[in-house]
Amino acid sequence: MKWKEKIIGLQSYQPGRTINEVKQAYGLENITKLASNENPYGYSPTVRKALQEGTTQFELYPDGAASSLKKALSDYLQLPTEQIILGNGSDDLLSIISRSLLQPGNNTVMANPSFSQYKHNATVEGAEIREVPLVDGKHDLPAMLEAIDEDTAVVWVCSPNNPTGVYITSEELTAFLDDVPRDVLVVLDEAYREYVTAEDYPDSLELIKRYPNLIAVRTFSKIYGLASFRVGYGYGNLDIISQLEPVRQPFNVNTLGQAVGEIALGDQDFIKDCREKNRKGLEQFYSFCEREGLHYFPSQANFILMDVKADANKAFEYLMSKGYIIRSGQALGFPTYIRVTVGSAEENEGFLEQLQGFLETQRTGKLA
Ligand SMILES: *Cc1c(COP(=O)(O)O)cnc(C)c1O
Repeated sequence: MKWKEKIIGLQSYQPGRTINEVKQAYGLENITKLASNENPYGYSPTVRKALQEGTTQFELYPDGAASSLKKALSDYLQLPTEQIILGNGSDDLLSIISRSLLQPGNNTVMANPSFSQYKHNATVEGAEIREVPLVDGKHDLPAMLEAIDEDTAVVWVCSPNNPTGVYITSEELTAFLDDVPRDVLVVLDEAYREYVTAEDYPDSLELIKRYPNLIAVRTFSKIYGLASFRVGYGYGNLDIISQLEPVRQPFNVNTLGQAVGEIALGDQDFIKDCREKNRKGLEQFYSFCEREGLHYFPSQANFILMDVKADANKAFEYLMSKGYIIRSGQALGFPTYIRVTVGSAEENEGFLEQLQGFLETQRTGKLA
């Protein structure tokens, strides 16, 4: 077979372990999954109601233009529908962007560690990958600027960054965008935007008006609690969106996804409530880390990356045996850190109790 050279040996995405797998492997009744940054409060009750009463016409193709959801987003964002593109999750949009711009002979710039799919897609497309190390969990934007040359097609900016939760300020981002050449697409991945409370976080809706080479990407998978429906959206200058549109699959957002996305968008009280609860949850983690003397990155997202001062895979295994699924930093570029999704107050408390237990085994292990 004439495989693309770059995909030989490429690893598929390693999802967090599922609740059922862990139940079976450890013989546990109750499992709490704090591994994939899903919403511990589920989704809006308005969505629940609509799903109970909803459509059953599953033999029909979805509306390929997703007109109704697009109209709702257009009202919500105060942007013309032509400046919005929908994806089968924002992952789909990242892939559409990569397919449209990356190829052998050009390059793409990203932070490291950051969201794994930027690199993955670039590998599939055969573009050269330029990774710029984070500084204190944050993108080193001046160094990323330096990595850009005339063959750079796309720059990926993730804020708040996954896996650190650290965000880029408005001032930092505009200084960066001022200097990026106009023929380089900047992708601002705002998967956790709705969790942000920092006042100097940039307003991407304003920025796309000033920077014609910027696209922002958001999702219904995180705070909206609709990960299984696979709906994401992007917005930017008309020229960018109209060039990306023909590259997407014709029916990339399914009927139920379109319906629930629109309904979820209409319940911003739920979003606000989740954001506030998440803030309080982060405080539980912060006080624990401070009490235990563990380094952590201050987070604007719904997860926290914390140093357990031990092999993260060991912490991962221990916590899983106690019924908590989290992410080991080993695969995320932080070998002694764990990434934990902020759960409900009770989940966080239960988790931190077990983490305390792990830290004690480490201490006594060391003394023995
Ligand atoms: C979760 C996540 C995504 C992908 O979300 P979808 O479910 O595909 O919408 C994209 N970017 C980042 C940084 C994420 O954490």
